Amino acid sequence: LPPLPPQSVIGILGGGQLGRMLIMAAARLGFRCHVYCQTQDEPAAQIAQCVSLGSFDDQAALEKFARDCDVVTAEWENVPVAGLQAIAAITPVLPTPAIMAIAQDRLQEKMLARSLGLGTADFIAIDSAAALAEAMQRIPSPAILKTRRMGYDGKGQIRITPPPDAKLLWQQIGETPAILEAMVDFTAEISVIVARGQDGAIKPFPVTRNLHQNGILAESHVPSGLPAALESEAIAAAILLAEKLDLCGLLAVEMFVRSSPDANGRHILINEIAPRPHNSGHWTMDACATSQFEQLVRAIAGLPLGTTDLRGSAVMFNLIGAAALEREKWLSTPNAHLHLYGKDEIREGRKMGHVTLVQENK
Ligand code: AMP
Repeated sequence: LPPLPPQSVIGILGGGQLGRMLIMAAARLGFRCHVYCQTQDEPAAQIAQCVSLGSFDDQAALEKFARDCDVVTAEWENVPVAGLQAIAAITPVLPTPAIMAIAQDRLQEKMLARSLGLGTADFIAIDSAAALAEAMQRIPSPAILKTRRMGYDGKGQIRITPPPDAKLLWQQIGETPAILEAMVDFTAEISVIVARGQDGAIKPFPVTRNLHQNGILAESHVPSGLPAALESEAIAAAILLAEKLDLCGLLAVEMFVRSSPDANGRHILINEIAPRPHNSGHWTMDACATSQFEQLVRAIAGLPLGTTDLRGSAVMFNLIGAAALEREKWLSTPNAHLHLYGKDEIREGRKMGHVTLVQENK
């Protein structure tokens, strides 16, 4: 495909903060954005040049949206695959619906990682209380039961504590296809975001070390502080996934670092993949030559990817719930870059914004 000329329209499925920051990056490169989301006042809808409101199941509305777009991407990875395919019949969808289908299902993600020789936590697919009872014999607690679909920010998962009762757990998880996963004794959680262009050029961002609280990302740190060999293993894993998926766009790969290698000498376990900008990459806006959002725009527009060199060290804090009220404090902190998402109502556990502290290299 030839590169998209300026003024082309990038369609964004989903109206959250990832879409909002994507629009700002796209605008800088001369593009327009058309957001498809469910309600008027979502963070991305507030600043889009054009908004279509509709359900993600409404094929006719999605097709109408597609006809206005030169390329479509998703800032929310759970758009039903039928809708993605309907759009793809009209205009390119990047990353492709096939990639998004894998990322929507924890079982498929893990099977993909395994098929490429990458490590994952031990897991068993579950589709009934009886299957769960049997799996719990093979993966005893501490373990974690996760829905295959629609989980995010620690939702859709239950940590199993003894005495485990399979029938009750099956009810609690909503009697929906799930996986039982062994608890990993990790020394660090990290992520690697990698971009791949239409020409196959590939650029990883530096490895980020992530801290979670209550299943929600709280902080990201770069550099990760991990030994170079571990960083190389993590980056190689992300690149392998992007290449095998024949990605065009962005892929975020969340990983666990084990304290000791497994039988195959691997320290890295793949936890999840997301074919979109990722919360753990927000620091790229303030501490990298090219942000993850601009990189996605470049990739799907057929433009050259930017350099991803780190300008210094960075720490990103999510502003969750009432933490967003500390606006003035961050605005008067040197080297702090404040980002607010335009959400009206502060709710517990809601991501309202983030702040990145950057220490530039001298
Ligand atoms: P997830 O939705 O799979 O990313 O899980 C959210 C968070 O729960 C992760 O970032 C970890 O902190 C924790 N977690 C998930 N799965 C495991 C596991 N198998 N072992 C240990 N911690 C886990």
